[in-house]
Amino acid sequence: MYYIRTLTVAPKLPAEISRLNELARNLWFSWNTRAQELFQRINSSLWEEMKHNPVRFLLNVSQEELEKAARDKDYLALYNQVMDELHNYMNAHTQTWFNCQYPQYANHVIAYFSAEFGVHESHPTYSGGLGLLAGDHCKSASDLGLPFIGVGLLYKNGYFTQRINREGWQEVHYPYLNFYEMPIKPITNSDGSELLIPVELPGRTVYLKVWCMQVGRVKIYFLDADLTRNSIEDRALTGQLYGGDRDTRISQEILLGIGGVRALRALGIHPRAWHINEGHAAFLLIERLRELVQAGVPVGAAVEAVRAGTLFTTHTPVPAGHDVFSAEMIERYFGHLYKQLYMERETFLSLGWDDEQKQFNMTLLAFRLSSFCNGVSKLHGEVTRQIFSRFYPRIPLAEIPISSVTNGIHHQTWLAPELQELFDRYLEPGWREKSSVRETWGNVSAIPPQELWEVRCRLKEKMIRTARANLRGQYLRNQEPALRIREVEGYLNPNVLTIGFARRFATYKRANLLLQDKARLARLVRDPEHPIQIIFAGKAHPADRPGQELIKQIYELTNHEPFRGRVVFLEDYDIALARCLLHGVDVWLNTPRRPLEASGTSGQKAAVNGVINCSVLDGWWPEGFNGENGFAVGEARTYPDEETQDQDDAYSLYALLEETIIPMYYDRAHDGVPRAWVELMKRSLQTIPWYFNTERMVKEYCQRFYVPAIERDLYFSRDNYSPAYRLQAFKKRVKENWRQVAITSVKAGDAKPMVVGEPLQIDATVHLGSLTPEDVTVEIVYGNLDNGGLQNIRHVPMMRVEQLPEGTHLYSGILILPQGTLGYTVRVRPSHPEFTHIFELPLVTWVPNF
Ligand SMILES: *Cc1c(COP(=O)(O)O)cnc(C)c1O
Repeated sequence: MYYIRTLTVAPKLPAEISRLNELARNLWFSWNTRAQELFQRINSSLWEEMKHNPVRFLLNVSQEELEKAARDKDYLALYNQVMDELHNYMNAHTQTWFNCQYPQYANHVIAYFSAEFGVHESHPTYSGGLGLLAGDHCKSASDLGLPFIGVGLLYKNGYFTQRINREGWQEVHYPYLNFYEMPIKPITNSDGSELLIPVELPGRTVYLKVWCMQVGRVKIYFLDADLTRNSIEDRALTGQLYGGDRDTRISQEILLGIGGVRALRALGIHPRAWHINEGHAAFLLIERLRELVQAGVPVGAAVEAVRAGTLFTTHTPVPAGHDVFSAEMIERYFGHLYKQLYMERETFLSLGWDDEQKQFNMTLLAFRLSSFCNGVSKLHGEVTRQIFSRFYPRIPLAEIPISSVTNGIHHQTWLAPELQELFDRYLEPGWREKSSVRETWGNVSAIPPQELWEVRCRLKEKMIRTARANLRGQYLRNQEPALRIREVEGYLNPNVLTIGFARRFATYKRANLLLQDKARLARLVRDPEHPIQIIFAGKAHPADRPGQELIKQIYELTNHEPFRGRVVFLEDYDIALARCLLHGVDVWLNTPRRPLEASGTSGQKAAVNGVINCSVLDGWWPEGFNGENGFAVGEARTYPDEETQDQDDAYSLYALLEETIIPMYYDRAHDGVPRAWVELMKRSLQTIPWYFNTERMVKEYCQRFYVPAIERDLYFSRDNYSPAYRLQAFKKRVKENWRQVAITSVKAGDAKPMVVGEPLQIDATVHLGSLTPEDVTVEIVYGNLDNGGLQNIRHVPMMRVEQLPEGTHLYSGILILPQGTLGYTVRVRPSHPEFTHIFELPLVTWVPNF
């Protein structure tokens, strides 16, 4: 049948509970258990059926049920309490952390661009950790009161839902989302018409509709191309997250970056700080550049002005995570812009060009046009500096201007309600607001082991029920025999040590590490007294065949003895399933091929729930693991080949399970409580969550980047961008003349043995040519000699003591000697008071080998 129009008709909310509508459209509900209870209590099976989407729930609930709730005293009491909380939360702006710390910047916006946002299962615009991090980042930005907004794309078909077929292959299904049934609303102009944002793509203009999601106090704007005024092909551009071909990808990134900036302008929002969350969003830089150039700022100064307020976070060392486009594609998509930017083709390309790859690289674009750049764990920071070292010739790795902020999680989102209740009883009042303070978790020691253990057991039983339902669903759909379907009721045993492994099935995450020695695994699973069971879940990218083969390999294992019923694969891993597994398992396993896991966050979600981490020392775990708060698989070393690495790590994992984890788990006191295990849980709770959370993380972003970026942006846009002009002119002049810089001689005191604290005078003659002493810093660089290299590099400035003829100068400095075997040398580097980093210009001249 042909219908002329669709219409959404909702039941009428009784006046007593009319604000449920407001609650349903504020993602605040997603981290407040009692808010969810308000929906669940009305009809809990409908709440499940609607996948915890309160907007759909309110559309589908019956009028009678609503009336009944509105007459229920207990319900109304809860309703009033929750609504008061929401009201207080939304109106406490002036008391938030940000407003207390930085009242002067309360009206300057920080814009956060990301291709993914994983806020809640009802809004499937995420594929994995990157999106979840963005979601948790927004929630903490809301809690802390940052003047923060998110910008993303609204995918009509989301990321896919996964089904496992009878052969164990992943089948991909794309939902067709009805945005009017989601907790978002369209932005309209003052006359009620839809706000539309035009973006040029080759040969046409695509229009974007803007939707707004309220996440507590923070708004995320989502762009949507699925409009009748766009062509069928263009409507599909915001169809799938990470779908389509290279043209889809570049188009999506243009819509996000360029469309995103334009949407903000149309909304009257003028951010001072811009956070590019992974290279996908980097085209926002091009649009900002265009705006400035069109406003009359010369392109060189415009580059400095754009850079001033920009922060770039890179999220993976895996090459597939970095988008590259050919010169031909860039030409096709951006050729029309060259003129507007007053740029030659070559200059435009050079913004993102990688000479080695011969491609335009989004990561490089973001990196070159950002003042600040960071990785997402200490180790990832190091790895990223290594990757970028080719752009910093002769500069020590540790001094490459890429730092790190270790990822975290939003506690309230991930902490099981049952545990929250327990913490309510044993932690200090107000512990939720102080969960990033170490001392808050000290009182975990006061929880009686029996009680902590009982809560864990309850959570596990709940998780097993969900797991069985998931398997039943798979088997029913795959038309397995009735016997098999009935068998599921006996799958997984709540008394057995349960290991969880769930995440994206990218091959570097090595989901099959435990399968290296199947006979050994079989012995562990079948052990009559101390068995283990394993729950797997995760999606592979539709184009990642090896990832899909991993799923199949594991699925096949789960079908056969002795693994059947003890090793299971759950389909359609999403936020809801993640939550359930992270609440319910005993051990959370993480086996990436070091150092490819930039951070990982699921282990942090495990830890806050008293689940024990068993992980390769990669990502955040080298910072989190202290030797006694979980388990480390393998060694913190770098391997020459993958095969050796896999073998070593698998061996280490089996040994760890056999010798330590399993015995400890089954070592029970007379009351059945595993004392040593509970102690381990407590140590994990006391040492991990206080630090590995987004509250600490967002504060760190604020202090180290957002606030400096705001200040820098304010400063650089002063006097018609004159600081930007000056810095650009400085850089140009220094680059052009750097070839002349040389250290022509160095003199130091005798090489006799010296004692700690003695001063050593060092003199150097430095040729600066046409550069002046104000343009450079000459410094003594020293460090501990180790393996022929300098470790722990430090520097002390030298003073210019005399001007010699022909652009030569005499410098002198004093090194107060620290203890140990030292190496020292002298170097010259460009220096400018407005550099954010000493190597903002990657130029340096060292003492040559005389
Ligand atoms: C936390 C989370 C992730 C990230 O997990 P990692 O182990 O860090 O890869 C991915 N997907 C979902 C649904 C999550 O909740």
